[in-house]
Parts: sequence; structure tokens; C-alpha cells
Amino acid sequence: KVRLEDIKRRFNNVTAIEDITFEIPDGEFWVLVGPSGCGKSTILRTIAGLETATSGKLFIGEQLVNNVPARQRDVAMVFQNYALYPHMTVAQNIAFGLQMRKVDQRIIQERVVNVARSLSLEHLLDRKPKQLSGGQQQRVALGRAIAREPQVFLLDEPLSNLDAQLRDDTRAELKQLHHQLGITTIYVTHDQVEAMTLADKIVVLNRGRIQQIGDPQTIYAHPANEMVATFLGSPP
Ligand code: ATP
Ligand code: MG
Repeated sequence: KVRLEDIKRRFNNVTAIEDITFEIPDGEFWVLVGPSGCGKSTILRTIAGLETATSGKLFIGEQLVNNVPARQRDVAMVFQNYALYPHMTVAQNIAFGLQMRKVDQRIIQERVVNVARSLSLEHLLDRKPKQLSGGQQQRVALGRAIAREPQVFLLDEPLSNLDAQLRDDTRAELKQLHHQLGITTIYVTHDQVEAMTLADKIVVLNRGRIQQIGDPQTIYAHPANEMVATFLGSPP
């Protein structure tokens, strides 16, 4: 599970997020939505350990991780501007996190092949990133994160650079992959359709605060307030 208890993050005098409390059961797929600047990335970065909470408690599994450095958290994050290692092949990029962890070479090879297969990259393993399309690069970034088989998977608008068709395809692959691996996932998007189709639960944020948490159907049919209704395009 991932549990946030009254998490707040302030930057100087600006409160980016506050009163953030929720618990994601193991294996669920949660989606964070809300307008630009509402605090989505700050929440993900705090969970990943790239940002420190000003106050509140953060648990991954049973462990309180507030003071655990990012690299010791069993978490993998994919950013919008997925930076691949340009001098490495696709296979080496996917294997990177495992090499760092000194995983057995045979297991690494197996994982790379499996991940590549589930993301339709198996024919591209020997290429360098610059020989790939944007969508293929994005899938390599996903593969690199997934190959580590983290306890928690954090995705910050991972499909936003893709055209509509590729987005649909990659979204379907992602869903399939989640089905297969059952890794607890937190996914940030400002695309309502994406949220509705992927989420077990949606968290709607505005100005750093949670407006509503619920499954897509409930939240769409019974928005807690005007902001949620407008954002999700609920019927009046
Ligand atoms: P977007 O959809 O545009 O990515 P977001 O929901 O991810 O937005 P955050 O990046 O979490 O929003 O930012 C939340 C608030 O915190 C914003 O007002 C932002 O300006 C502020 N903020 C974020 N990082 C910093 C920082 N390092 N220093 C100061 N303010 C910051
Ligand atoms: Mg953001």
C-alpha cells in the first residue's frame, strides 16, 4: 500500500499541496487529475522522494519513508520528458536499473525480453534512442521503469507527447501490463478520458487540495462540487 497522512509541501511562502490524505491498496491503479499547478507532480515527487514533505507522514508498505532517500525507495517514476541514455541501446536502457542493483545477468536478459515483448519493442532492442520514434522512446522509458519491478509505479503524464493513435495504443499496453504485474500505480494526467478509462480510483485536486476521491463512475455521476463537475464534464 501507499499511504499519505496529512501531507503538506510548502515552497517558501507558497503552499503547493496540503491536507493530502489517502491510502492506495496494493495493486490498484489510481489517477490524479486537476488543472495545471494543482499539485499533481508535487505529490508524485514527494512519494518518489524527489521532494520532501514539509509535514505529514508517508508510508510505502508498512514503512514510514519520510526520511528514506529516493534511491532506497522501492519506487520507479516515469516523467513527461523521459530522458533515455543516448549512448545506450534500447536493451541497455531497459536493463539500466537492474544493472545498478547488480541483479544476475541471466535474470536481466529475461526481464528485458519480457518487458520489450509486452511493450512491442522486441524488434528494437539493438537500436539507440535517436533511431526511435517519440512513441517508441516513451515506451522504452516505461520499460526501463517497469523492468525493475518496483513496489510502486509513478507516472507523470507519460503519454502527453504522443499523437492520439499512439496514446490509445500505449494506454492499452499500459493497462495490459498493469493487469499482468499488478504493481500499485499512480498516474497523473489532465486528460479526463484517460482518467476514466484507466482508474480504479480518481483523485481530483484543485489548488493543492483534494476535492474528491472515488471510482470513475461515481465521481462522474456525483461530483462533490462545481469544480469537479466542470473538470470531469459531468452532466448538470
Ligand atoms: P501541471 O499540470 O502544470 O504539471 P501540477 O499539478 O503538476 O501542474 P505542481 O508542479 O505540483 O503542479 O505544482 C504545484 C504548485 O507548486 C504550483 O503552484 C507550482 O508553481 C508550485 N511549485 C512546484 N514546484 C516548485 C518549486 N520547486 N518551487 C516553488 N514552487 C513550486
Ligand atoms: Mg505536473
